[in-house]
Amino acid sequence: MSRAEKLTDQILERLKGSNVKVKREDILKRMKLLVEEFKVPESEAVRTIMNYLVREYGVSREELFERESPLIKISEITKPNQWVSLKAKVVQLWDSNSPNVSQVGLIGDETGIIKFVIWAKAEMPEVEEGKSYLFKNVVTDSFQGRMQVNVTRTSRIVEVDEDIPLPPREIEVIGALIAIQQNSGLIKRCPMCHRVLVKGVCQQHGKVEGYDDLRIKAVLDDGENVYEVILNEDNIRELTGIGLDEAIRIAQENLDRNAVLSELKSQLLGRYFRVKGIRGGRYLLVKEISLHRPEVEDFEEILEALS
Ligand SMILES: [Zn+2]
Repeated sequence: MSRAEKLTDQILERLKGSNVKVKREDILKRMKLLVEEFKVPESEAVRTIMNYLVREYGVSREELFERESPLIKISEITKPNQWVSLKAKVVQLWDSNSPNVSQVGLIGDETGIIKFVIWAKAEMPEVEEGKSYLFKNVVTDSFQGRMQVNVTRTSRIVEVDEDIPLPPREIEVIGALIAIQQNSGLIKRCPMCHRVLVKGVCQQHGKVEGYDDLRIKAVLDDGENVYEVILNEDNIRELTGIGLDEAIRIAQENLDRNAVLSELKSQLLGRYFRVKGIRGGRYLLVKEISLHRPEVEDFEEILEALS
């Protein structure tokens, strides 16, 4: 879909629910002329055509220009199918295994953290971890009982020159590491977009010469909740003594990259960890992680309980 078609559909989306009938071809023809022939900036082209609709079709100016999805906070998202706008920071990008998904991860503001999905069809510019954006006209959704927001073709993403704060409260969790997910251990990333390669293929850039990295996607269980955590190379080296160089050596020695994952699993699975981080729903953004050894008081408590 061309930019002109996309912008045309964005304008038509604004007319949904009103009883004005506007021909798509009519708008598209003008949009192509403005954007492709005359190289008018997109926002200017959209404004020009909206003015045309007000003039020629009698569309109410208010309906076109002002009926936007309300700007809300993440904590206010409670039900699916609401069109909203959010100002949020990209706190974590995940790997997507689906060609339909352009980017997936977590965004946060001072009230909470939520999963977001940018559909490939939306044809959005890519967002970056740590940067803040205005996510305009995104739609809430519920997936496996958890809320998320979807960025679609009629959404807009605008980088903002602000550092949106995350929820202030840090929590500490002590829990058992009960699972390590696929695509953990010694992985390869795409040199362009840093996504994890699956069988040497980047979902965005196809077959590429990847670079090595170390990471673990794991599930932590504290007896009350389960948390999804991602550990980077630094976390892994601190916990196991295995950094990237050591991991590469293990892979070469065994002629098998999976040997690294086996080694990490044998060192980490079932052990207890103390994690400091920010909680957003099911996710725990790791700031510090260390092996948890029971304190002397714990043993005293156990002895007391037994006596
Ligand atoms: Zn890539």
